[in-house]
Amino acid sequence: MRGVRLPGGRQVVMDDVPRPTPGHGQVLVQMKASSICGSDIRAIYREHLGHGPEAYQNVIAGHEPCGQIVAVGPGCTRFRAGDRVILYHIAGCGLCADCRAGYMISCTSPARAAYGWQRDGGHADFLLAEERTCVPLPETLSYVDGALVACGFGTAYEPLQRMGMSGRDRVFITGLGPVGLAVGLIAKAMGASHVIGTDLSPARLAWATEIGAVDTALPADDGALDRVLAETDGQGCEVAVDCSGAPPARLLALQGTRRFGRCAMVGEGNRIEFDVSQTLIHPQITLYGSWVTSIGHMEDLVEHLVRWNLKPEVTVSHRFGLDEAAEAYRIADEGQSGKVCIVMD
Ligand SMILES: [Zn+2]
Ligand SMILES: [Zn+2]
Repeated sequence: MRGVRLPGGRQVVMDDVPRPTPGHGQVLVQMKASSICGSDIRAIYREHLGHGPEAYQNVIAGHEPCGQIVAVGPGCTRFRAGDRVILYHIAGCGLCADCRAGYMISCTSPARAAYGWQRDGGHADFLLAEERTCVPLPETLSYVDGALVACGFGTAYEPLQRMGMSGRDRVFITGLGPVGLAVGLIAKAMGASHVIGTDLSPARLAWATEIGAVDTALPADDGALDRVLAETDGQGCEVAVDCSGAPPARLLALQGTRRFGRCAMVGEGNRIEFDVSQTLIHPQITLYGSWVTSIGHMEDLVEHLVRWNLKPEVTVSHRFGLDEAAEAYRIADEGQSGKVCIVMD
């Protein structure tokens, strides 16, 4: 079968590898869609930057896999051949406190392995997965919808849940890449009265507006904070989420948060320096860090996507076949697009 590796230096290599056989508690999934995440670009494609959970071990890449089970190993109890599944993209030990809470993403055991990072991922014809990482994909959602849930939409849902976002809140998003788009769409489905987003890229501002992820799209320039305040009666937004990981955008997210509001940081990498008294303490802001989501919240998100009639694939601007993976990565690396997805059929 085909499998894509990312050796670094913006290279994409297609390998021919044996099709795996599921062992105890494992399933073999025929890949249907495998989207590209910003983390793949930041920590693997350009150069292998990651440490610990982000250390790429030259496996088949792709940590947003979705497909159909074609074989199950002994001991599988819930899933069977023919089931359409999203893969929660980390197999944890199952025994540490984080795993028991469903947060296999932050499993503290050395046994933790993420698809596309430390064990073979979704940019392939087939994926060998642990049954416990499968999330059922409802009939009304496409395989592309499912791939987008596997990391990005889950990552977007988690901070909104954790901050208790409701229809009483206006929401401010810095960074309108795929996760920012997902935050906007989910926040609106959860009843946000007004969603404001900023980005440096005019193309991304236009895409966010076109798909309805934001009500107001603003260039991330020196005038951005004043415009956010002007849009919100001088108050700022009750909820803010940085999805960029860029230091100036993180600061903007905090400054655009209303007094006594909540701000979450989701975009990875970099550092931040700010006047803590003036920016955080005196405005009485609660600051959250949030890393991906739990498998329980992912199942809950899938249920709600159906109820909201929200299709994550509206964020996809580019689709490529598996043989076109190099072009898919080149487009995603430019940072001007919506979501980029590899589709197998
Ligand atoms: Zn990701
Ligand atoms: Zn664990």
